[in-house]
Amino acid sequence: MKLYNTLTRKIDDFKPIKDDVVTMYTCGPTVYHFAHIGNLRTYISEDILEKSLNYVGYNVKRCMNITDVGHLSSDSDSGEDKMLKGAAREKKTVLEIADFYTNAFKEDCDKLNIKWPEIVSPATQNIDEYIKMITKLLEDDKAYMAGGNIYFDTSKLDDYYVLTNHKEDEMVVGVREGVEEDSNKKNQADFVLWFTKSKFADQELKWDSPWGYGYPGWHIECSGISLKYLGEYLDIHCGGVDNIFPHHTNEIAQSEAYLGHKWCNNWFHVEHLNDASGKMSKSKGEFLTVSLLESKGYNPLAYRLLCLQSHYRKQLLFTYDALDNATNAYNKLLSKIQSLKENNIGEIKDTEKYNDKFKEALKDDLNTSVALTVLYDVLKSELNNASKLYLVGEFDKVLSLDLLKDNKKEIDSDLEKYILDMIAKRNDAKKEKNYALADEIRNELLEKGIMIKDTREGTTYEIKE
Ligand code: AMP
Ligand code: ZN
Repeated sequence: MKLYNTLTRKIDDFKPIKDDVVTMYTCGPTVYHFAHIGNLRTYISEDILEKSLNYVGYNVKRCMNITDVGHLSSDSDSGEDKMLKGAAREKKTVLEIADFYTNAFKEDCDKLNIKWPEIVSPATQNIDEYIKMITKLLEDDKAYMAGGNIYFDTSKLDDYYVLTNHKEDEMVVGVREGVEEDSNKKNQADFVLWFTKSKFADQELKWDSPWGYGYPGWHIECSGISLKYLGEYLDIHCGGVDNIFPHHTNEIAQSEAYLGHKWCNNWFHVEHLNDASGKMSKSKGEFLTVSLLESKGYNPLAYRLLCLQSHYRKQLLFTYDALDNATNAYNKLLSKIQSLKENNIGEIKDTEKYNDKFKEALKDDLNTSVALTVLYDVLKSELNNASKLYLVGEFDKVLSLDLLKDNKKEIDSDLEKYILDMIAKRNDAKKEKNYALADEIRNELLEKGIMIKDTREGTTYEIKE
């Protein structure tokens, strides 16, 4: 398997530390609001990564956190806690908000066929782990207390900016935009491990610690949870590209300072999905959620297909036209497969060549668009229907587009909607005496095997088998 690695800045031959299992950590959602479909692009890509690793023969042990405390408005630990903002917005407690949006996220994942990781752990349930790490970092002089908070001392590292090519000032300013400087910090890049003081609204959730009643910073949560569930050596750590700095940079700093050795070998980052405004947002413009797409009549799996049509390391622009095209492609795919199922004959054979090609595409840094091309090649191929269906089922272990599900009813109802729309358009054309257009519509239907008849009761249709 070849995978792009943000740490080495090249496509590496992926080698797990242990032969029998790949450990994989995913930064989970901050559960203060619904996930937008941009967030979900990242989770779809990570799902493809896990399933591709399985497909080529690895066992994967995967862990994801749920951020329910400590993620402040700015990623460089300033501003109000996002969870508190969510609770104030909805006049609920932080725990109620966390519970509600964790469930909402799980439902979105289900609708998009994103497998729920084997281990999912909320940040608030691992406080002991962060306290253990921070205690050792203080003992080893890698952290310090100032103004009531504990900070990680980035000057103690040889290279803090291991994940990025950028210069220190550019990076720090980029994240700090519009945010006041924290005068407690010894170095600009230092970050908070434990808060006891905040000038913003007070936290609802706090815990006792050797440094006072307080709460953890966002970055230490992922290090703590990963070390607790996946051990001292990690194969792959994932997230969206915005996580590279400062979040993942800080995770590496504190984990390796704590462990005294290298922690994670491969860093997998998914590029953003953007909308026309350039950036997906939960507060401005149209808040693009899975439920919104459903309310407009879209199948969430058409969105999954849209994501798979492009490479995870390329930015993707979301438009409804693109989703309409993906919907058409998806429906065509389903009806083609449905027709194979109605005539499922032959003995499964000669499938290896296509299966190898499919695996090759995945092994090539998860080239899902080529993997989809292999699927289309199979459908067009000389293979008998049983062999085609076998391969569709195999590929769908990774693609997860419900390709073999009984979709007949959905296809039928989509077809009916299309025909009724066309008939309505034709009737309008006739009313406007635009007979040329009316004929054109009739012919378009006829080409698809749909015959319409004008009767006294209205227009009826018949589908030729
Ligand atoms: P959050 O809930 O803000 O912690 O984000 C959850 C995940 O979504 C993180 O891995 C982010 O890197 C990722 N993410 C945020 N915005 C986008 C976007 N527009 N496109 C793709 N992934 C995103
Ligand atoms: Zn994280």
